[in-house]
Amino acid sequence: MARRKIIAGNWKMNMTPSQAVELCATLKDLVVNDAVDVVYCVPAIDIVPVAEAIKGTNVKLGAENFYIEDKGAFTGEISAPMLKEAGVEYIIIGHSERRDIFGENDILINAKVKKAFAAGLKPILCCGESLALRKAGTYKEWIARQIKWDLTDVTADQVKELVIAYEPIWAIGTGETATADQAQEVCKMIREVIAEMYDVATAEAVRIQYGGSMNASNAAELLSKDDIDGGLIGGAALKPDFGKIVNYK
Ligand code: PEP
Repeated sequence: MARRKIIAGNWKMNMTPSQAVELCATLKDLVVNDAVDVVYCVPAIDIVPVAEAIKGTNVKLGAENFYIEDKGAFTGEISAPMLKEAGVEYIIIGHSERRDIFGENDILINAKVKKAFAAGLKPILCCGESLALRKAGTYKEWIARQIKWDLTDVTADQVKELVIAYEPIWAIGTGETATADQAQEVCKMIREVIAEMYDVATAEAVRIQYGGSMNASNAAELLSKDDIDGGLIGGAALKPDFGKIVNYK
């Protein structure tokens, strides 16, 4: 099955509102590609100005985080209905920075995936191993376990709309990219896990991205692999290079 590629920028904690609008203007003509879904996942404060700045373009809006309740006494948090009303379509869940710095575990991540779907948001569910697990050779078991935990009680129809981002932690922001073969090995394994949990049709539908120092020079090779359906891009999403990744061929 031909899956539509999805290239998403994860802006992380970068870009003030005025810088965000400026970046949208810089990238506007560079990120046009009818064959690819292009997404900007932006900090909460940038959501409203970026929604305005991308109006009438091919770019879709994403967010980086939310909390599982709809409203109430959760100081500092933002809810799925708030994101939805502001025009957000995609939501990053389970990024290694949220897991490691903010202590998010797979129980919360699973609750977030279910809440996102219930609210009409499409999750970009991140998974990936540390350097220690890579070296120990147990990375595949670890990632399979993350996927099983994070998708508990998620339906096959929902998984067909899901994006999974394989992001080896040792490759995030380090300039060290997994080789295209290393990335393909894990993305294929993730698809097999989905086939085992659901069925082949669901596994064929789910889109799996690679993330970790993807840039204008390595994108084409990574994206040529059978099971790599896109990229989640950190550093290079803040530069004109992002346009080169979107137009990798
Ligand atoms: C990320 O954090 O999702 C990421 C892939 O970052 P970078 O591209 O900077 O490695």
